[in-house]
Amino acid sequence: MSSDTNINLIGKNLQELEELCEKNNFPKFHGMQLFKWLYNKTNTSIKDMTNIPEKLKTVISHNYNINLIKVEQKFYSKEDDTIKYLFKTKDKRLIESVSMIDDSRHTLCISSQIGCSVDCSFCSTGKMGIIRNLDTGEIIEQIISIKHNRKKPITNIVFMGMGEPFLNYNNVIKACEILTSPAGFNLSTKRITISTSGILPKIERYINEKQKYKLAISLNASNNTMRNQLIPINKKWPIEDILNTIKKYQFNKYKPIMFEYVLINGINDSSNNAKELASLLKGIPCKINIIPYNTINNDYKRSKNIEIFINTLNKYKSNFRVLIRKNKGQDINAACGQLATNNE
Ligand code: SAH
Ligand code: SF4
Repeated sequence: MSSDTNINLIGKNLQELEELCEKNNFPKFHGMQLFKWLYNKTNTSIKDMTNIPEKLKTVISHNYNINLIKVEQKFYSKEDDTIKYLFKTKDKRLIESVSMIDDSRHTLCISSQIGCSVDCSFCSTGKMGIIRNLDTGEIIEQIISIKHNRKKPITNIVFMGMGEPFLNYNNVIKACEILTSPAGFNLSTKRITISTSGILPKIERYINEKQKYKLAISLNASNNTMRNQLIPINKKWPIEDILNTIKKYQFNKYKPIMFEYVLINGINDSSNNAKELASLLKGIPCKINIIPYNTINNDYKRSKNIEIFINTLNKYKSNFRVLIRKNKGQDINAACGQLATNNE
């Protein structure tokens, strides 16, 4: 008999589920059945798993569990179809995810860590410091919980909630593999975006591993002096090092890299900054996602120069596309970078 008491099944990949079956003297193929129950049907009740032998169900119920992260609170936007979920982990920490429905799209913005160690000066998650990484189960549980709660099928997942996904690389990639597995959530790799503040060794690893999820880099500045102030790790991994690495990767117009640029009033939003940004990204097929800054409890303000900035960028651009991020769920502080829990 196994000694894995209270080990969560959610977060285990196919191989681990197969091993679990074999370890408990059941044939390996039940692993695939479990995988489908967990991640395709997202059934969290062992007794409902009709094709699993009763004896295996007993072993599972005694030795493992299927944990589902607890919804502590939900915030409904009055402006659009956005819900912010506040979840409580088993160690009583709070994390947030956001579900945004817009016509046929249902995008989840999920968290990868509790807090964040990168400490960007403009970000409220950064102000919390790092508490810990989420495990693969906790990443997937956010998605299962919202799937159970909202009828609309989930079409897109973005790792733009709390935390720096590349400082929790293994758990994030393992979650992405489960999400894109045809026997699991069966999402296309194109529907998953991982956003990083620029953890260079992990960007290199991601590229070397030929990972196919969409990569977004939070540039947020058009030169190093500015970026050093906003994102402290820029001193270690400056803009040119990140861009040189990116250039080695074959991003093309079908799979472009994305750069995020949060526009902050008087900090990074002048026309000169737009020109500087355009010349920085010259020759890189990419998308630039302009994010209007969401004011939190600090001195930074939303740019008043958004339109001029975008026009200038468009005037000087080479082969990139400029997009502006819609502000969803503003009234419930559901926007990027506003995710942080005061309750900590
Ligand atoms: N740690 C990762 C992913 C989470 S943050 C990263 O930094 O990329 C997701 C995005 O929200 C980043 O582009 C970040 O620059 C942006 N962001 C942080 N705080 C914000 C705020 N107050 N308003 C608007 N965007 C913000
Ligand atoms: Fe962390 Fe991203 Fe916030 Fe920076 S912007 S502190 S990397 S979550």
